[in-house]
Amino acid sequence: MTYVTAVSANVMDDPGFLQSVREAPPSVLHLGHVLPLNSVFGPTADYSGFKPELVPVETIRQRRNRIRTFIHELHAAGVQRVVCYINPAIIGGDHTSRQGFWSFYDHWDDYASLGIGGKPSRDPIRWMQRERQSFGAWAPEPNYPLWLYRPCVNEPAWSRYHEAVVRLVAECGYDGVFVDDCIVECHHDECARRFAEFLKRRYRGKHAEALLGDDHSMGAIQPLWQGDAQGTFRDAATHLFWQESMRNYLDRIQAAAHAHNLEFIAVANWGAISRVRGAAGRAQSGKDIEVWKPATQWVMFEEAHPSGLFGADVPFGYSLQYNQSLMLGIRPVVHGYAATPQQIDLGFAECAAGGGGAFVQPDMQHPEIRRKWRNFFEANGDVLERFSLVAPVGLVLAYDELRYNNKEHLRQALATAQELYSAHIPFAALSKSHLVASALRAYRVLIVPNVKYMEEHHIGAITEFVKNGGKLLTAGDCAMFDYSVNERDAKHRRILHDAAAQNASGTLHVSSLEELVSRQALDSIAALDILDPGEFAKRAGEIVAETKNAREPAPLQTALTKLAGEDLSVTASAPGIRTVVYERLGRKQGALTVHAVRYAVSVTGESVSAHSPAPLRVAVPVPPGWKPQSASVRSPDNPEIAIAIAFKGKAAHCTIPPFDVYSLLVVRLSRRESSPQ
Ligand SMILES: [Zn+2]
Repeated sequence: MTYVTAVSANVMDDPGFLQSVREAPPSVLHLGHVLPLNSVFGPTADYSGFKPELVPVETIRQRRNRIRTFIHELHAAGVQRVVCYINPAIIGGDHTSRQGFWSFYDHWDDYASLGIGGKPSRDPIRWMQRERQSFGAWAPEPNYPLWLYRPCVNEPAWSRYHEAVVRLVAECGYDGVFVDDCIVECHHDECARRFAEFLKRRYRGKHAEALLGDDHSMGAIQPLWQGDAQGTFRDAATHLFWQESMRNYLDRIQAAAHAHNLEFIAVANWGAISRVRGAAGRAQSGKDIEVWKPATQWVMFEEAHPSGLFGADVPFGYSLQYNQSLMLGIRPVVHGYAATPQQIDLGFAECAAGGGGAFVQPDMQHPEIRRKWRNFFEANGDVLERFSLVAPVGLVLAYDELRYNNKEHLRQALATAQELYSAHIPFAALSKSHLVASALRAYRVLIVPNVKYMEEHHIGAITEFVKNGGKLLTAGDCAMFDYSVNERDAKHRRILHDAAAQNASGTLHVSSLEELVSRQALDSIAALDILDPGEFAKRAGEIVAETKNAREPAPLQTALTKLAGEDLSVTASAPGIRTVVYERLGRKQGALTVHAVRYAVSVTGESVSAHSPAPLRVAVPVPPGWKPQSASVRSPDNPEIAIAIAFKGKAAHCTIPPFDVYSLLVVRLSRRESSPQ
């Protein structure tokens, strides 16, 4: 999907804006504070809240009608969904001089006809997240003329105000809201009260009492993610409580909109999920895509770097985020602030290869690239939709480990994913919800990197997987604790940590995946936590230089070949390229697809690949009972062309002609006549 952010406040007054939308309408258009009631400041004189003095209720109604016309024009121009900006984690104003939101609070009843309910009894100053009340830290600045405060989504009055804001947004004809920040790390009185209820409900009274004694107060007051200390049960429960609090908020605001539009969506900003410290900080302040999923399937990953090459050699991008989302049934909205035409083209190519979701283009620039990709997505549904990932390897990537501050799991899992992409070994990113015997049957090898917190049924599923002939690669102290942080005795987790126990079944345990993963993969994961663009670029260059001559076959690939009994990669060395494989099997006809993405521009946008486009030889395993019929390649830049195909062993062998950014190989299959239906 194509997705454009156009957050300038005056898009409605700019006739050129509508014209540029008509020129190349995105599938989703994401506007800024273009809504009747500002989510942060209340009924302000301009949309953005930059002029925070109040306007009469009649002005808000006129504004709603004017926006309705505008949204209608955007739909007519070809935009499928239009969303606008709200923020549940900020209030703008001054509680002493009664400006901004406080001025609105003092005149609350004047706006009752907007459906905001009666005036809340307690002053907004008491709605704030405790330990996050942002006085000194967020002084007035040009973009936000008053102080910024941090309200809590568990405060009933604040949440009800946002329901009213979103109801009015839906009345304007919007298709959804973009929900920024999504931060909850709060211990205010309402949170403390709800936390005690949450413990009783979630862990049943007696169990929680055994773990916490009489003290049901909230944990994790000091941010854990800044250090390496492992969290306690209280910390993990607190983080889960905050994640569920955000889900409940997302649920409530959408319910408010559904009276007007049952398809109304909330695109929730998760932030940066691809770097270890960034992800840990977010998981510990209200974010978990699996916890949120019942409320919203649309999640933005707002990242610090666009996709591209480290130096001139090593691909970096968001394939893993698409993979993970696909496996969880989430629609990822990937926002890496791609700026140059090459970076934008690459971002769309990753999105195509990712199997669903949206790639974000900031602003309306480069309409020709957006138009090209939207046309490609819409004209090629036959080879893009209703396919499933082909993956002999399952890699456990469990963000819930971060509730316990197990960052080491994430570090090893991310580096392993990077290495699997480099080796062109197709894999699926699995969460713990996939650790059930029936789901694991799909994989030949399961990689479990230092997953410390598991329940009995997870261990049972993995044990059964091995009994059924599945191959297991484990690292570190897997399943050391249950979810309540009770240490498990070694006998019970033997299959997961004991090399001797595993040798019998031909599987492998290492103390850390560092033993199998390249220095380059580990160093590049660490570098992603460097946010300064100059520092990041410098480090990226150093990593490539340091590891230039260390290109021996990766030990991980050798280990997987040994476990599986054959090489699982779909192509040999293809520097600068990533591949993703899918299949779709009907009654008699089927297809395999290989998306090949070529990284030819650096993450900093300055340099280009050291490797020129070259033919790419691939060998794709054909499912038992099927045979390949024909093969072709297509891309947004070139019409479909047929290519030669050979069926050798169990694989279809093809050579994809040289391509600049993206090529899609389609292998048509038919069922062998002798095979049972
Ligand atoms: Zn709170």
